[in-house]
Amino acid sequence: MQIKVNVNCPFCKQKNQILVKDDMFGRKNFISCSHCLKNFATSIPPKKEFVSRLEKAKKEKEKVYEKNEDNTYIGGSIKKEVFLKLSVLPNEYSVSQVFEIDQKHMTIGRKNSSGSEYKADVEIVTEDMYMGRKHAVIMKKENNAFVIKDLKSANLTWLNGTSLKGTDEFYLEDGDELKLGRTILKINIIDK
Ligand SMILES: [Zn+2]
Repeated sequence: MQIKVNVNCPFCKQKNQILVKDDMFGRKNFISCSHCLKNFATSIPPKKEFVSRLEKAKKEKEKVYEKNEDNTYIGGSIKKEVFLKLSVLPNEYSVSQVFEIDQKHMTIGRKNSSGSEYKADVEIVTEDMYMGRKHAVIMKKENNAFVIKDLKSANLTWLNGTSLKGTDEFYLEDGDELKLGRTILKINIIDK
């Protein structure tokens, strides 16, 4: 595992990104500022504590910069964020719409304007009655990959022209095309 952290230089206040190697945990490390070239020390906590702190920060979706005793700051993130962009192409039933998916489990379907409780997480505003109200589900896996599964829809879910079999999961890739009912949805995988 590679952990990159941002450390603010106490002299010029500029941010330095450093790669924390195994032998840097639990002690003070001397860093040469890439902006003003002065040397300063920064303390890095023991690995276990540091990783759990970063994971907590990642969950809260914010970067945490903590002040150390020696007046330097530490923080950063372990992995880049990955999300899926779902673009509904305009057709005779609807205008174009874009949704971002970054949750573990998000159902997709036609928005129910009658206000019934049977609604998807991603509600597509469309008159396309061939699209179910909970038509399919997109799931984000631990490895940041996205998969799709049909939710026993009447008209099936189509991926790049092939209908999804049963309730099997299929990997989604950047540039893939889904068809729900008579509506085409474009997939983009975005690495932040
Ligand atoms: Zn500096």
